Amino acid sequence: MSEKVRVMLSEEAVDKKIQEIGEQISRDYEGKQVHLVCVLKGGSFFMCELAKRITVPVSLDFMSVSSYGSETKSSGVVRIVKDLDEPLKDKDVLVVEDIIDSGRTLSYLLEMLRDRGPKSLKLCTLLDKPERRVVDVHVDYTCFQIPDEFVVGYGLDYDQRYRNLPYIGVVEFEDEEVID
Ligand code: 5GP
Repeated sequence: MSEKVRVMLSEEAVDKKIQEIGEQISRDYEGKQVHLVCVLKGGSFFMCELAKRITVPVSLDFMSVSSYGSETKSSGVVRIVKDLDEPLKDKDVLVVEDIIDSGRTLSYLLEMLRDRGPKSLKLCTLLDKPERRVVDVHVDYTCFQIPDEFVVGYGLDYDQRYRNLPYIGVVEFEDEEVID
């Protein structure tokens, strides 16, 4: 089997949309400092691009979580692998995610972060698959709603590969040509 990646969202389309969302966030947080919380590893590429386009003061923190569950289905119970370095108390927090699928992981995570007493807590995602939603999650900023396909690139992996692609793609598997 060989793999190739079909482009779903080009680098230009993604960059343009991140610029627009960055401008919108800058307007919404006028006069404030926004504290970006990146969920590793997938959210890191999007977070860096987004942060560069925000014109109000920005601070950053990172967390890494793993979701208990099978390979294909998250249970929603989250274990913190790496916690944030700083408290969230009285900060205007914007959680930056790569993709929202069932919503299980994020709804659990948001509850956990809300308990830490931020002044405000909002959510920004690069991709959203609304068809797959099981748990209702309010998303404040969405770059793209996409169909139910497994995507890679811009931080998203398939077996730890393809995170570095500058676009969003779908991995397609092809049978090798058999030569007699
Ligand atoms: P949820 O709890 O919303 O079902 O799980 C969300 C997580 O599943 C994402 O943070 C991401 O790690 C993973 N995920 C969901 N859909 C995709 C996809 O299409 N591609 C990749 N690479 N990961 C996905």
